[in-house]
Amino acid sequence: MNINMSAICDTCEVQTNMRVGMSNRDVQPFRFCCQSCGSPIDFTIGRNQGQGKDFTGARQIPARGPFDEKTNFVDLHLDFPVKFGKYVMGNTPFMMAIQQIGHDRLAMHNHRLNQLNALYKKQGEIQNLIRLYSGRDPLLFRIRVEKFLRTKLKSSKPQDINAGLYLLVSRVFEPFINVHSVKETVESYTDFLINLANRNRVKLDDFIDHLANTRFLRNVQLDGLELYPAVLDAELPLRPALFLDFDKKYEGGGLSPARVSTDKFNAYKDLYKDIAEVLNRQLVIVAGINNLLHRDDYNAFPDLGRKKQPTSLNDFADIPFGSKMDWLDNCWFYFDTDAVDNQLRNAIAHFKAEYDDSTQLITYFPKLEGLEQEKAQTMYFLDFMRKLLISFREMHYLHHLVKSIYYYRILIQKKDG
Ligand SMILES: [Zn+2]
Repeated sequence: MNINMSAICDTCEVQTNMRVGMSNRDVQPFRFCCQSCGSPIDFTIGRNQGQGKDFTGARQIPARGPFDEKTNFVDLHLDFPVKFGKYVMGNTPFMMAIQQIGHDRLAMHNHRLNQLNALYKKQGEIQNLIRLYSGRDPLLFRIRVEKFLRTKLKSSKPQDINAGLYLLVSRVFEPFINVHSVKETVESYTDFLINLANRNRVKLDDFIDHLANTRFLRNVQLDGLELYPAVLDAELPLRPALFLDFDKKYEGGGLSPARVSTDKFNAYKDLYKDIAEVLNRQLVIVAGINNLLHRDDYNAFPDLGRKKQPTSLNDFADIPFGSKMDWLDNCWFYFDTDAVDNQLRNAIAHFKAEYDDSTQLITYFPKLEGLEQEKAQTMYFLDFMRKLLISFREMHYLHHLVKSIYYYRILIQKKDG
């Protein structure tokens, strides 16, 4: 269903016509910018459609359809990327989405959207559960998580408390990930660790003791966990990014002129940076295992000749993210290099990214090898949210690696800290 609406911008008094496609989310906050003056216009459609739309930045007037071509026009839909451009009768965001991916794939997208429609209302509860896990009272976490998941944990032993946490995370974040791929990868971690132990148990145990005793493992786990509620909080602008999973023609990084119907780049750029930071540290664990695998010593990096190699894992931790990959020779973990765009990350970290609300275009100035690049790079907000999603997925895989190491520590090493 679509609603045609019209509003007059408070700033420049120019009219915009809107065709708003309805999602099944019971509260639908929209945001776009006036095409004449660039001022943001927000409105929310609640349960009581047809009642007040809570406009800010504009005032609603009666819509007279069909719309003409001369008046400013925007298509809006929370669940799909929508096209920029003029009003074409019948080319509703929903119809365009079907054309783009077909009925079957749209049904898969819808399945995730329905999950999100139920989950977003529990964001506070989920955040609190994750806080409880990180806190000092595992018993309280157990009681609350059992209630939330409607299941019983085996016991209050660390391995079962951990199982509760990962069941929570897996269930809640299912709409954001590729369930089968995560399941396969996670299962392979356990076998992989056991194989390493069979080859050289002492070295593996040394490595894991090192991670645990320096509290590196615990910190990277907790810092990663903290980001999960924030990702759930970003479910609105992530919806169009999730849609792109089903669009075979989408190529990440290319400019996709499509609009996200709710955008707050400034609110999400920090999340992207934080995910990249956790990934950067998770990579230390990947590197330690890689060194064990190839050289039987977690501190031993390959000799690449051209550069001075890190002398230890600690040394490696301080290397900038972009250069870390160089030291992962023949890596056991297939790292999606698209997951983190180091140039974008640096630009965001150093406030070198500008955002144009009305076109949803991000302009950033990457620094390469210490040199300021004059040439700007651009990316649409939708592509940015896609990158955020892919980075989150990569972090999620490695978060499970941390879990597997914990299981190894508890069940095989028989240590619990
Ligand atoms: Zn205006």
